[in-house]
Amino acid sequence: MPSNKQVRAKKHLGQHFLKDENIAQKIANTLSLNSYKDILEIGPGMGVLTKYLLEKKTSIHVIEIDSESVSYLKNHYPQLENRIYEEDFLKYDLNKIFNGRSFAITGNFPYNISSQIVFKTLEIRSQVPEFSGMFQKEVAQRICSKEGSKIYGILSVLTQAFYEAEYLFTVPSSVFNPPPKVDSGVLILKRKENYLLPCDEQLFYKVVKTGFQQRRKTLRNSLKIFNLSDNLKANAIFGKRPEQLSVTDFINLTALIQNDN
Ligand code: SAH
Repeated sequence: MPSNKQVRAKKHLGQHFLKDENIAQKIANTLSLNSYKDILEIGPGMGVLTKYLLEKKTSIHVIEIDSESVSYLKNHYPQLENRIYEEDFLKYDLNKIFNGRSFAITGNFPYNISSQIVFKTLEIRSQVPEFSGMFQKEVAQRICSKEGSKIYGILSVLTQAFYEAEYLFTVPSSVFNPPPKVDSGVLILKRKENYLLPCDEQLFYKVVKTGFQQRRKTLRNSLKIFNLSDNLKANAIFGKRPEQLSVTDFINLTALIQNDN
């Protein structure tokens, strides 16, 4: 008999356990389960989502940094067998699990490392056709926001360069134990058919990050470090501020900078 002892929530690991079974089920149902046979859940905690993911006809792997949660999972979900990894998602080489195969990522994520989870996913996107899960509401909204919005920024542009991003629903803080300070939001990312950029990727990241570092300035001012030619700087795009540029505009801008000499 597994013990009923609950995992003690640890703040430094961003632990806020979801109490609402209906919401857990709704999150577990966000993935399409098309085009991949494996799912990786980040931060399963006591397995509130895992339980519903295990009902799917896919193979579920879970990665959890907290040894207390790992013992709980081993006791309560013996069917996970050897697919529980006591590791840091940000540091672990996921090909030790997937060996080049495609997999979806899901979870009620640790909010203290939200952006880093997204950035790592973008790095390994050739293996990740779908990503869904819960972040702080503000972060989920930011990832999905479009140009012209106040919250449109680095995370929006970089994510949407490779994925279609859709905000699905809001989850109130009251359904967590302990409740976080802010509400949460669930989103889904579906990888674009063409997830390679038609410009230099490193330069694209640098242009987007540098542009948004001074979001009130025109790109002509904020992108000075690129030593652009006068000819290029005369292009009307440089009179704009970063939040006015769509993802495609940023890609075109990067190509212009790349070809400037
Ligand atoms: N999914 C559970 C727990 C959410 S809290 C639920 O909904 O109730 C976030 C979980 O992520 C915690 O269990 C925490 O231990 C785990 N976690 C935190 N940092 C992590 C990391 N770097 N890698 C893997 N898991 C991590």
